[in-house]
Formats: sequence, C-alpha cells, structure tokens
Amino acid sequence: MNEKKIIVFAPHPDDETWGCGGTIAKKIEEGYEVLIVVMTDGRHAFTKMLGIYSDPTPEELKEIRKEETIRAAAILGVPEKNLMFLEFEDGTLEENEEIAEERVIKILKEINVEEVYFPYEKDYHPDHRAANRIVRNAITKLGVSPKRYQYSIVHKHGRIGPIIDAILDLFKHCIIRVDVSEFLSLKDRALREIKSEFFIISPKQKEPLWNDMSKILKKVERFYLDK
Ligand SMILES: [Zn+2]
Repeated sequence: MNEKKIIVFAPHPDDETWGCGGTIAKKIEEGYEVLIVVMTDGRHAFTKMLGIYSDPTPEELKEIRKEETIRAAAILGVPEKNLMFLEFEDGTLEENEEIAEERVIKILKEINVEEVYFPYEKDYHPDHRAANRIVRNAITKLGVSPKRYQYSIVHKHGRIGPIIDAILDLFKHCIIRVDVSEFLSLKDRALREIKSEFFIISPKQKEPLWNDMSKILKKVERFYLDK
C-alpha cells in the first residue's frame, strides 16, 4: 500500500468538488489516493444567502451538506473513509485559526502527501483566506514540501470572478491548467449531489443558491502553483 497521496482542503463542504472535482477524479485514475479535509460545516449557507433560519435549520443543513459531500466524493472516486470533517462552524475559521492549524499539522504529520490543494489566498470568502493561511502555516511549521496548488472559487462567493481571473492572469507563469475534459461528466454528476445548492430543498426557498452549472463545468481546472 504505497499509493501516492494527495490531499484537498475545502473550507466548506463542496469547495473540493467545485474547485478540484475534475482533478480529483483524474488523480484517482492516475493511481493516487485522494484525501479530502472539509474544514467548516457549511451550516450558514441558507441563513446568510437566503435568510432561511428554519426548515432546514443551520443544524439540519450541516448534516445535509455533510451527506451531500460524502455522496459527491464517492462519485469522484473518494471513499468516505478518506474524508475528514473538522466541523468548525461555518464562518468562524478565522477565529479558530490556531486550533485548526494544530489539527492540520496532525493530519499532515500522519499522512505523507505529494500534493496539497487548498484555497487561493485572494479568494473573497474569509473562510477561504483563513484556510489558505492555516494550510500554508501548517506546511511551513512541519518543514515538509509537498507541491502546493491553490484553487480559486470564482463564481461562488461574491461577484468578483472577473477580477480574480485578471489577477491570476498576471501570474500566468504560476498557473497550472489541468485538462479535466474526460472527467467533466463525473464532476457534473458529483455537483448534482450538492442538492442544497442546485435544487429547492426548503419550502421557504424560492430559488436554488446557484443555478448555472455551465459556468463551473469547464474543461480546464486552474491552479495557482506555490513557489
Ligand atoms: Zn467555500
């Protein structure tokens, strides 16, 4: 069992699929073992974006999103045993940076990974930025040197996609483009498991959180490679 391993850090349950779903499936086909660490529980997606506080409650949404992530990961080829849920409350990663860093250090100490995928430092969402710092600091403190790929969630938290794209383009030499065209149907299927975002699951919900999957399903996934 000397499989090469990669690890994906997702600040929220689903970021791994949006940001790296095709790459995850591709790496598995190439013989890698993929581990996914979901850092927060995503419980506030409905309260913050739709003003829905019950049916589902944040506590219920947390469980829904966990189950969705497990199903989406299974479609990409990642078994449930390879998923870790750190369960920090959605939106609180910044204030829990120290303890989260300790937990990430513990994980990276136990597993010898070749590549680490984590959110782009200039992502809009504070949880994403905190996740970037947590993973980066953990790697530095451990003194290990896996390849570090940052993925950017550009169409999701806020409408700053074009700006981020422009910033990324300034650093073209550092961008890795992974052709995931062969794995798009898997990514599509995995994303469809994330029903709480794409379908109406609450009587109070008038529209899905996100309804345009075509924007996400690109043949190339881009990563900002850390030097
Ligand atoms: Zn997120």
